[in-house]
Amino acid sequence: MLNLVIFGPPGSGKGTQAVKIAEKFNLFHLSTGDIFRANIKGGTELGNLAQTFMDKGDLVPDEVTIKMLQAEVEKHPEVKGFIFDGFPRTIPQADSLDKFLATRKTNISNMLSLEVEDEELLKRIILRGKNSGRADDQNEEIVRNRIKEYNTKTAPLKNYYLQQGKCKIILGLGGIEEIFGKLCAAIETVV
Ligand code: AMP
Repeated sequence: MLNLVIFGPPGSGKGTQAVKIAEKFNLFHLSTGDIFRANIKGGTELGNLAQTFMDKGDLVPDEVTIKMLQAEVEKHPEVKGFIFDGFPRTIPQADSLDKFLATRKTNISNMLSLEVEDEELLKRIILRGKNSGRADDQNEEIVRNRIKEYNTKTAPLKNYYLQQGKCKIILGLGGIEEIFGKLCAAIETVV
């Protein structure tokens, strides 16, 4: 199996690139943000719970997110591999993912880290908010909190994967195709 993590701050282009990678390498795109949003739309219990955190730009608690992620993976036993988008976002999530994949006789092949500076992120997200309709994209204070959550809780994960020799750093500036080309070149070295 080829299991990739696409990693980077909010607005770094993870979602856009994950869709393209999934198509090219025949992987299942699993975005925890998309799943939470679908649950909010559907008015499920999980959606109602997640919304209280997402509305503030806070991370949803680990135990809720981990349980949901594992259930999603189990729904797709037939796939060739996953591209995880927006997960893991904390060290406990990364630890649980490693252990969970080990029980399924597989592992994370590589983590692709998209690097973009904070001020550029803010500009991109506010612009996206005008079209996406995402409430958490439209308020500067919430966006800043999401970036802060990223810097304090998520950014340390880069070291987690670096220590495992599984982190590829890609500059997330430039056009979509240009960045996609760099990601593909990085992935080709591990397939
Ligand atoms: P995203 O679509 O990846 O930007 O995620 C949107 C929001 O969903 C985040 O700001 C968090 O509130 C929540 N979320 C998504 N993935 C996770 C995760 N792995 N852990 C905790 N919260 C998450």
